[in-house]
Amino acid sequence: MSLPKLDKKPVAASLADVSRHLETPAFVYDEAAFDSLLGSVEPIRQATNCRVLFALKAFSFVDVLKLMAPRLDGFAASSLFEARLARKVLGGTGTVHVTTPGLRPDDIDDIASLCDYVSFNSLGQLGRYRNAVAPYTSVGLRVNPQLSFVDDDRYDPCRRHSKLGVPLDDLEQAVDIDRRRLDGVEGIHIHTNCDSTSLSPVLETVQRLESRLGGLLAEMKWVNLGGGYLFDEAEDLSPLLEAIALLETNYGLQVCVEPGAAMVRSAGYVVSSVLDIFTSDGRRVAVLDTTVNHMPEVLEYGYEPDVEGHVEDGEFEYLLAGSTCLAGDLFGIYRFAAPLDIGSRVVFNNAGAYTMSKAHTFNGVNLPAVYRLDLSGELTLRKRFTYEDYAERWGAGISVPV
Ligand SMILES: *Cc1c(COP(=O)(O)O)cnc(C)c1O
Repeated sequence: MSLPKLDKKPVAASLADVSRHLETPAFVYDEAAFDSLLGSVEPIRQATNCRVLFALKAFSFVDVLKLMAPRLDGFAASSLFEARLARKVLGGTGTVHVTTPGLRPDDIDDIASLCDYVSFNSLGQLGRYRNAVAPYTSVGLRVNPQLSFVDDDRYDPCRRHSKLGVPLDDLEQAVDIDRRRLDGVEGIHIHTNCDSTSLSPVLETVQRLESRLGGLLAEMKWVNLGGGYLFDEAEDLSPLLEAIALLETNYGLQVCVEPGAAMVRSAGYVVSSVLDIFTSDGRRVAVLDTTVNHMPEVLEYGYEPDVEGHVEDGEFEYLLAGSTCLAGDLFGIYRFAAPLDIGSRVVFNNAGAYTMSKAHTFNGVNLPAVYRLDLSGELTLRKRFTYEDYAERWGAGISVPV
């Protein structure tokens, strides 16, 4: 299905113009925005030998992965399913890197055949699975540098008692006691930040690794610096470039980074329709045909999504509400220059990251249909979810009458 063209450079404002042609709720991904996000990591690839992988957990739609594949060095996966999808898209090209605290014994053979790099999350994982993967993939170890930069503990991989990576203290101790515990380890993986627009933390972390693990770094082949940085919004890439140069020059290491949100957030929109409007305790409530379950971080993070057309001094104020039974299924209070009506479209900007990949169908509210907004401004329906998809998940199966 093809829809009218946007005549100017596609931006969310013009998306709002044609959004009446969309089946809602809809998730729209914008190829022009992807183009510019992919461009934002080019300076890193040009100034260094650093490889850039995309952490596909942020948004895994295959069309988009295919668009990224030729312009990046591969994908970072968090599970066997993600690794399989990544490998399916890449075919024989590119690299797949995996790390997870939840490595399963029954996944290990497939992981070994699909992935080029496996970063074990603990010394126990390393000990149990090293021999199974080593002939096929490069073995790494995820390290927790014990240097926190994230205020909210829930998003801080370096929080106290973290489950993510071997704490630096424990690693040093283990190596002191028996260096052979790290036999076969060729790489170090760190991922220590979340949505940071400053790149200084990565330099600080690498300097800590150097001062604490210098000798060990010299024996490695690669370092993966993880994600958690918004390269597209960063004021200054130089701390990252300095960190990469330090690892490349002093230790001859192959460096890679694996951004997730940075590569997709500004390239996706959720488009919804107003289903109902009423007043509750003196406030106008507009019920939308989407829900926070299509953008779970609204609830998890308590963050206010960016709504197209919201103006601070807008005359028409609404509490935008999701359509489920949960009282707290709310997006927040927004003000518009014109009143909303039943059927009005409400567009959420900057909704590309961790929305579709975390969305679920609580209350039986369907997932958003996925549309592509291509470089010529044309909108195309790429995926529609059906009752059958929903029912199948609950054991009905499409052939069983319900
Ligand atoms: C989540 C994650 C990423 C991507 O994080 P963003 O914050 O989306 O950039 C990269 N590497 C690892 C190990 C992760 O867990």
